[in-house]
Amino acid sequence: MQPFNRAAVYIPLITPLGDNSMTPQRHFAVIGAGIAGLSCARTLAQAGHRVTVFDKSGRPGGRMATRESPFGSFDHGAQYFTVRDPRFQLALQTAPGICKPWSANTVRVLDAHGRTVAAGLPLQEPHWVATPSMNDLPRQWAAPLEQQGAIRTRTRVTRIERHKGRKAGWTVHAVGPDIDGVHERHRFDGIDAVVLALPARQAHELLENSEQAASWVERIDGVQVAPCWALMLAFPQAMQPGLGALGPQWNAARSTHHRIAWLARESSKPMRSPIERWTVQASADWSREHLQDDPERVQAKLQRAFSEVTGIRAEPSHAQVHRWLYAKTEQPLGQSHLWDGRAALGVCGDWCIGHRVEDAFVSGLELALAAI
Ligand code: FAD
Repeated sequence: MQPFNRAAVYIPLITPLGDNSMTPQRHFAVIGAGIAGLSCARTLAQAGHRVTVFDKSGRPGGRMATRESPFGSFDHGAQYFTVRDPRFQLALQTAPGICKPWSANTVRVLDAHGRTVAAGLPLQEPHWVATPSMNDLPRQWAAPLEQQGAIRTRTRVTRIERHKGRKAGWTVHAVGPDIDGVHERHRFDGIDAVVLALPARQAHELLENSEQAASWVERIDGVQVAPCWALMLAFPQAMQPGLGALGPQWNAARSTHHRIAWLARESSKPMRSPIERWTVQASADWSREHLQDDPERVQAKLQRAFSEVTGIRAEPSHAQVHRWLYAKTEQPLGQSHLWDGRAALGVCGDWCIGHRVEDAFVSGLELALAAI
């Protein structure tokens, strides 16, 4: 592997890193290429360490995700993000022009029948989106790592194995990418330290499979994360002359309808296709209750609820649902990350401190700073 071009992977930090040339280089395996994994991996690389990032998906970004359709894209994971931490603000400057504020016409709150109960709530703080789609921010942050061959996508880590004694270190066991439907098994030796940048449940499973850090497993057990069914709808007929926008005048709303918690007009976001498209998020309770239902059944029920709330009765030309098993943290860990220097093992992710993109960034960053 080529040495890192540090300038290319640099995330400016508040904490000065000093002279890295004295730091012995270690090889970190970062498992998960969501925002937490990327902020951790880039910071470790910036400090002069070698990193290999593994992700089971086809591209980096995790829940900062985008689904393409013939009518334009949907941000079916994170809808927007806030920027409160100055380190996050600085890091965003490394992707100039990618993030833009989304006015959303102010967010409102609707009752179960779609009536506005709190209108035009002024946005407490800017709502930011990546452009031209939400996944473009992680994609941009991942690019320098990808150029160095430091990201292995379609590679699901199944077990991590610690070696003690003279040859201390880690082996990462993984499957994928699939070749002709056959799982390729891999082992990666010579790893000095492992970071799990995964949703709580998945970190828990990997720690358990690997018989590591029993005390952490117990703590992570206390973390609660709600699932979410997301519905994506496109109405290209709204573009026909004279028809105008199909539905309500607002672009984003929180709803108290028992099935729906959030609705947003994707086409109102900056630099998106103008074709009328909506992303609808089911409530946590309803998503839990219907977690194992057929997607077709879920789609039909959410579409009915969408009509009730928005008054849009037209048939969409495109409708699709996605089930997120881990969407919104309800009970966080309560500290930004876990790091065991002796075992050279760490855990990070949004769920350590909250449920937002920014929490994932801070968690990954603080773990890297502890591990450097
Ligand atoms: P993730 O993004 O989940 O990354 C974990 C990665 O690990 C994934 O890429 C996954 O493929 C990979 N992985 C899992 N298991 C393995 C394995 N065994 N081997 C290899 N790779 C593995 N946040 C906001 O700020 N604003 C919002 O409006 C908002 N809305 C949301 C709506 C929904 C429906 C969802 C689902 C989330 C929303 N969020 C929102 C939350 C936000 O998306 C997350 O906080 C953030 O993206 C989490 O980043 P992460 O890196 O911690 O985890």
